[in-house]
Amino acid sequence: MKSEARAAVFVPHLGCPNDCVFCNQRAIAGVTVPATPDDVRIAAERVRNAGADNAEIAFFGGSFTAIERGYMRLLLEAAKRELEKGGFSGIRISTRPDCIDAEVLGELKAAGVTVIELGAQSMRDEVLVKSGRGHTSEDTRRASALIKAQGIRLGLQMMTGLPGDDDEGALYTANELVKLAPECVRIYPTVVLKNTALADMYASGEYTPQTVGEAVSLCVRLVRVFDGAGVKIIRLGLQRTESCENDVVAGAWHPAFGELVYCELKYEAMRRYFAENPPERGGEYAVSCGSAGVSLFVGHNRRNFARLGDEFGITMKTDVSGAFPEGTVRRI
Ligand code: SF4
Repeated sequence: MKSEARAAVFVPHLGCPNDCVFCNQRAIAGVTVPATPDDVRIAAERVRNAGADNAEIAFFGGSFTAIERGYMRLLLEAAKRELEKGGFSGIRISTRPDCIDAEVLGELKAAGVTVIELGAQSMRDEVLVKSGRGHTSEDTRRASALIKAQGIRLGLQMMTGLPGDDDEGALYTANELVKLAPECVRIYPTVVLKNTALADMYASGEYTPQTVGEAVSLCVRLVRVFDGAGVKIIRLGLQRTESCENDVVAGAWHPAFGELVYCELKYEAMRRYFAENPPERGGEYAVSCGSAGVSLFVGHNRRNFARLGDEFGITMKTDVSGAFPEGTVRRI
């Protein structure tokens, strides 16, 4: 199997003029050291030395083309130097939809940027306004078209549980993002962090966050939309970081959120099988899976097998022999 790797450089948008209600960049501004060209070189060398088959240099932080232009160029030049040394297939950045125009795209392309991820967050304008995003759904459509016209690969990010949003709104957003034909998406349930406007809205009762369970159920439906359209989901839920662990006030935070969603999808598939093929009560059944998939079928804390047992009166086991295709259920 081919190995993939990213030389990741975090570029916080210090002094960002926007007011996204969920963002705590301002709170961390005083303690965050801006990434330097040397950080790019060090991150690239580390990944190059590890010898991955497919490696990218990736600038994370969400506002790459909104940072001070001279600083952006310094980072890009450093990344381009690393590209020229070899070992990397390209550069990935993420930015806001309203910070993309033909001029900056030309600079990015010349520097070797191959993937741009846009923080769309929602395609409902009233949700974007309530969330203080400062851009519209039309900005996302326009920027996506410009990126694709430049021959740069497109990634899109969306959030669930934003102020004013609901399940139907999130499904609408997913379907609108599919129309923009991205190569990949990231889905982030909203998490209320300390020192944010959202934390104040939560404290005053103005905002009710999604629970983990609600976000999992919704994301199961979103996964089906993107899978059905052939769009790769490269992230589900916030990455586990020290900041998350310490700063979460409320919302759909779970360190293994993506796994919860994929466990639920496996549960639904097995449940559907037994609904269509009623099992013998008291019987033992096995589901075939590779050893890597065992935890997904069994479920978090064996929850999937426990629920099937309660509902159908059966005992479930896994079969990792490889004798049957993954997901095959049979009586044992
Ligand atoms: S999330 Fe919003 S407020 Fe935070 S850095 Fe990005 S654009 Fe600025």
